[in-house]
Amino acid sequence: MGNTWEQLEALQPNVLKILQNSLLKERVAHAYLFEGSKGTGKKQISFLFAKALFCQNPDNHRPCHECSNCRRIDSGNHPDIHLIEPAGLSIKKEQIQFLQSEFTKTGVESNKKLYIVNHVDKMTVSAANSLLKFLEEPGNGTYAILLTENIQRLLDTIISRCQVISFRSLTPEQLAEKLVENGLSAVDASILSNLTNSIDEAIELSKDEWFGLAIKLVIQLYEVLTTRPQQALLFIHEKW
Ligand SMILES: [Zn+2]
Repeated sequence: MGNTWEQLEALQPNVLKILQNSLLKERVAHAYLFEGSKGTGKKQISFLFAKALFCQNPDNHRPCHECSNCRRIDSGNHPDIHLIEPAGLSIKKEQIQFLQSEFTKTGVESNKKLYIVNHVDKMTVSAANSLLKFLEEPGNGTYAILLTENIQRLLDTIISRCQVISFRSLTPEQLAEKLVENGLSAVDASILSNLTNSIDEAIELSKDEWFGLAIKLVIQLYEVLTTRPQQALLFIHEKW
C-alpha cells in the first residue's frame, strides 16, 4: 500500500474528506484522535496530513511529496514534527514532558508544530495527566494527532478535547492483501480475511497448527466434492 493522497483515500475515503475540508476551510483542529483497528492507515494518514500542513507547494491542499518539508517528514527529520511511540510497554511521563519543553520553544522553522502520539492508550496515568494539561492549553500553531486501537481505554477528558475521527475496518480484500504482504499464502489470506477483520487475529490463527490442518482438510474435501462427490462422506469419516 502506498502513501499518496489517492492511495490512502481508497483506504479511508471519509477520513480524507474530513481532513481535506478542515484544510480548505482553514479550520484544522488543535487535536485529532484517530481511532480504529490495526492496519487501517492511521499512522500513514497522520504523516500525510502533516505533509499537507507543512508542504511548501501543495496542490489543492494535497502535499507535493517533493519539497524539502515533505521529504524531511518522509525521512522523519522535520524539526517541527515529533512522533511519540511507547517506550517498551508504555508511554511515560518523561516523554510527554520532553514534548512540552520542545513545544514551549517556537517552531524552529515555521510558526507551527505538530506532534503525533501513537498508541496513546498506552500512556501511564501520570503521562495522561501531563498530556491532558497540554491539550487544555494549546499554544498557537500547535497541532496534535493521537492514535489508538483502543479508544475505550482512554480517559473521557482526553477524548473530549479532541476531534475524534473513526477509521473504518479493512474490507476482506484489503485485509487479504495485507496478510499476503505479511508472508501468508494467498489461499490462507483469503480464508482468514473472511473469518476475522483483525490483522493480529488472522496472523495468530495462521500460526495455529489446528488452523493449518483444517485448511488442508477443507481444500481436500473441496477436491473430493468436485471430482468424486460420492466419496465425500467416506472422506469425512476417515479424516474427522
Ligand atoms: Zn511538499
